[in-house]
Order: sequence, then C-alpha cells, then structure tokens
Amino acid sequence: MPRTLPPLSGGPHGPEALRPLLDTVLTALTDGAHHRKGPLPAGGPAPVAAALHAAATPVLPDTGTDPHTALATLVTALTAGAADPAHPHCAAHLHCPPLAVATAADLAASALNPSLDSWDQAPAATALEEHVTHTLAAEIYPQAVAAQALVTTGGTEANQLAVLLAREAAPDRAPLLLHGANAHHSLPRAAWLLGLPPAHRIPTPTGRLHPADLRAALETHRGRPLLVAATAGTTDAGLIDPLDELADLCEEFGARLHIDAAYGGPLLFSPTHRHHLTGLDRAHTVTLDLHKLGWQPVAAGLLATRDPHDLTPLTHQADYLNADDDTDAGLPDLLGRSLRTTRRPDILKVAVTLRTLGREGLAHLVDTVQDQARTLAALITARPHLDLWAPPTLSTVLFRPAHATDHDLARLRRTLLTEGTAVLGRARADGRLWLKATLLNPHTTPQDLTALLDLVEGHTPR
Ligand SMILES: *Cc1c(COP(=O)(O)O)cnc(C)c1O
Repeated sequence: MPRTLPPLSGGPHGPEALRPLLDTVLTALTDGAHHRKGPLPAGGPAPVAAALHAAATPVLPDTGTDPHTALATLVTALTAGAADPAHPHCAAHLHCPPLAVATAADLAASALNPSLDSWDQAPAATALEEHVTHTLAAEIYPQAVAAQALVTTGGTEANQLAVLLAREAAPDRAPLLLHGANAHHSLPRAAWLLGLPPAHRIPTPTGRLHPADLRAALETHRGRPLLVAATAGTTDAGLIDPLDELADLCEEFGARLHIDAAYGGPLLFSPTHRHHLTGLDRAHTVTLDLHKLGWQPVAAGLLATRDPHDLTPLTHQADYLNADDDTDAGLPDLLGRSLRTTRRPDILKVAVTLRTLGREGLAHLVDTVQDQARTLAALITARPHLDLWAPPTLSTVLFRPAHATDHDLARLRRTLLTEGTAVLGRARADGRLWLKATLLNPHTTPQDLTALLDLVEGHTPR
C-alpha cells in the first residue's frame, strides 16, 4: 500500500489540515486542565514522571499512530502535569500566563515558520521586526531617534549581548562588570562566558544597589573600562535600583551603564507607574522581557541600544545568507541582529498584542497586577501571624509566617508544591528566607489572594 505523506501546516491547504488537529489540541488542553484541578499536579516529581512516561512510551514506535491520538495523549499528559501560570495560585516566578491572542499569533508563526536569518526566508517578518523593534526602542529611548532593539530569547540572552557590546566598545582592555548582589545571575555568568575578568559584586543589603556603594566600587576600579549593571525589577523582590542616581555616577566616572529591566520595563506603558523608571533612557543598553510583565508565551526578549553604532560588532557575513552583492542589491542583512542563525519571528505575537491592547490596555494590565500586589500586602499586614517583608514596588510580595523557622518555611513551600495547591517562590532577604508571590495574572481576585494566604496559614506549624 502506498504511504500517504503527512500534511504540512503552510500553503493554501495547510490551515485546513491544521483545523481538526487544533481541535484535538484544544480538547486535550481542556481535559488535561480538568484532570489536574490545581496550579500544579499533585504528588511531586515521581507520579508526574510516571504518568508522563506512560503517555510518552513508546517514544519512537516502529509503526506510528494517527496524529489525533498522538496529540491527545501527549498534550493531555503535558497539561495534566503542567504548572499553570493561569491559575491564581501559581505565583512563584516571573512565569506569566500568556494572553490567548498572543498564543494564537504564535501559532501563525509556527505555521508559516519564517526564519529571521535571511530576508529570503522571512520577507514580511523581517519588515515587521524592523518596524516593531524600532517602536519599542523609541518607548525606551524617547530622545534617541536611531535607537534600536534586538529580539532575544529572553533576559539572559539580552544581558549576554549587553555585556558583549560593552566588551566590544572597549577594545583596548576588557571591561570589568560591576553589579549589585541583587542583579540577575545571568550578568556575572555573561562576564564569565565572554572571557571578562570576574565581575565585581557589590553587596545590596536593602535589595537595591545603593549609590554610595557603587561610588566606592567605581573609585576602587577607576582607570579601567567599567560596565555597571543596574536592575529595574529584581527577580527576588521586584525592587528598582535608583536608576537616575546610578546613571549620574556612571557619567561622572565614564562607566558604561546597562539596565536590566527584564521584569520592570513594561512599567513604561503605565502613566501611573512609569515614574519608577526615571533614568532608564540614560543606559547604553536596556534588557526587556515581554514573557514576564508582557504576557507573551516564551520567548519574547529584547535588548535595546541607544546608539545603533554599538551594534556594529555584531556585523557578520555568511555568503549563503547575506552575500555582499545581495546586500548591495537591497536585500536586508539580518545576521547582525542576533548571534543566533535560525530565528523564530517572536515579534509577531508581540506586534499582535501591542495592537490589540494599545497603550491603555497594556497600562491596565500592568496597573492591575500592581494593584494586586498592594492588595496582597494589605491582606498580609492584617493577619497577625504573617509578616510582610516590605511594601511592594513591582508585583512581587515577600512574606512569611511570623514564627516559622527558615526550615519550616522551605518545607511549607514544598508541601504546597507536592499537594499541587499553590506554587510560591522563595527569596532570601535580611538574612532570612521569605515566601515570594509574583503576581502576573490579571484575572486573580482578592478572594484568590485570601485563599492563598489561608493555604499558607493552614500549613504553618504552630
Ligand atoms: C527573568 C530575568 C532575567 C532572565 O530572563 P530569561 O528570560 O529567563 O532569560 C534577567 N534579568 C532579570 C532581572 C530577570 O528577572
């Protein structure tokens, strides 16, 4: 019997092949979520692995199954065993629930499969990326008409690029990275990756990088190229460094400034909260991560640069992708926009989201989760057996049962994970361990937050 070939997702008939498969996927997503019930599968790693193993075996059968069965089995199992950021009690990490419209756009990106390493693989996506990144760069750098932004896989890649561009901007001597202890771990790791001297870590006992401490570090290392990394939205506590004052110091000492706004960057869209980012546009480079406070499915990172000349070192040539004569003839040259080669059009979902929400819609989402954090902080303060670390700046709230030890608290967090009832993070502050709630779900209600605190109090040893 002649074998039939599986249908493709592209071309005029692709969508008709996709439609019934998507129906199966959507049913599996629904079934899996019902099966799970809570934000996380119950029972911890062993039963999850066993269920997944059963669903995914045989991985590579001699004879295949029909696609509906394969999709239903594996998507149901993955959903049943997922940590679901759309559940209001899934609040550990900067792991956002994606907007449905962004996910739908991402499906189109997969169906068409443009690759942004050459124009002939992605003509329209090339133009869209250029257009949208220019607009986003202008949001960050309103005074710099030529500002640019590169699309990255997230904050880590954006930080790596920022450190690379700083290295290339100081050709005579490798720059030294100065960063607060509150900075993301990807920054000192980028210094290591790029062969820079070990980064200088400045203690941040308050959770923010204090200007006096940066000044002392700048004085210690005066006379060599320096890169200062500040944070607008720390991963642990959602704090924002005093950006304007740090930028003053960088200017005074001739240091380059990178601001990691992976988390806090979207405050720019909120007239209510934008003031927290004063000074952001004084950085040479800025990291933004729209798969956090931007409600995108992974991946949706950006690195913005004020001066487009900073990007020159990324210029790269591979004859099959950007031959000189093709570039001279007017074909856009894309290799200098990334260190990756094959690259998804992650900008499509971002473009669709920005157009759908508009400034007002984005501001409303940002303000909603910001308000939730204040609500949660007030609920905690009202409970005598819970301590609040500090009033929140972003949508992260640190709290702990008043009389629990760090050991109790760590165990409590794992108990909730194992039960599958709540996903809370952990962070160290003031020498103690705290529970961390990172609120990124705009649909979460005050009742959900009350229920979350009830869960915590209900599991606290007395
Ligand atoms: C999340 C985060 C990163 C890393 O981003 P990824 O998208 O996970 O690579 C970098 N910096 C900060 C401040 C973050 O919160």
